[in-house]
Amino acid sequence: MSYQHQYVDGTRIHFALGKVVCIGRNYAEHAKELDNPIPSEPLLFIKPGSCVVPLAGGFKIPTERGSVHYEAEIAVLLGKSLSPKPSEEEVLDAISGFAPALDLTLRDLQGQLKEKGLPWERAKCFDGACVLPPFVPVSAFEDLADIGIRLTINGEVRQDGNSALMLNPIVPMIQHMASQFSLQAGDVILTGTPAGVGPFNVGDELVLELPGVSRFESRVL
Ligand code: ZN
Repeated sequence: MSYQHQYVDGTRIHFALGKVVCIGRNYAEHAKELDNPIPSEPLLFIKPGSCVVPLAGGFKIPTERGSVHYEAEIAVLLGKSLSPKPSEEEVLDAISGFAPALDLTLRDLQGQLKEKGLPWERAKCFDGACVLPPFVPVSAFEDLADIGIRLTINGEVRQDGNSALMLNPIVPMIQHMASQFSLQAGDVILTGTPAGVGPFNVGDELVLELPGVSRFESRVL
């Protein structure tokens, strides 16, 4: 199923999906669980728009390529392009909305690539590697330093984080990303995953939510 940006009320968002700019190890507890050091500067990578699929109705995972880990993350939708040195106000003005996203990762393969010092694309950019529900408009959020993110699988809460725990908070993170890559309307920012990552299995029933703001049910097909 092809993906198109939309808001939770069903309104289609007029700009097309761009790229997905991601940050790794943005929560100390998650860096620790994978035995990774906390980076001295933000660890950035990009998923192409081609790997994005909608959450609604379920999604497939490539289990034939090894373990597929879920990473629940707060996703930010950009509605405006940013200059390479945007002010805090410009970043705030460019944010259209937020959604709970899944950054799917072929964890075994990523481990092999990391060991050899090779790029992560094969582990992070496969078709279906970014799963997105509709966005909630930014006007619904009062404090960007207090946005929850929760993933429940088969009735058990597996990840339960909050933007308050981010090592790089949302606005400075986007300022840094903009200094490295052109950020454009339709791009999505994935803000890192809290602790609790693990493998998905076919048939898993999940609830992905920004607690108190938006809640979506889906399943692994
Ligand atoms: Zn991630």
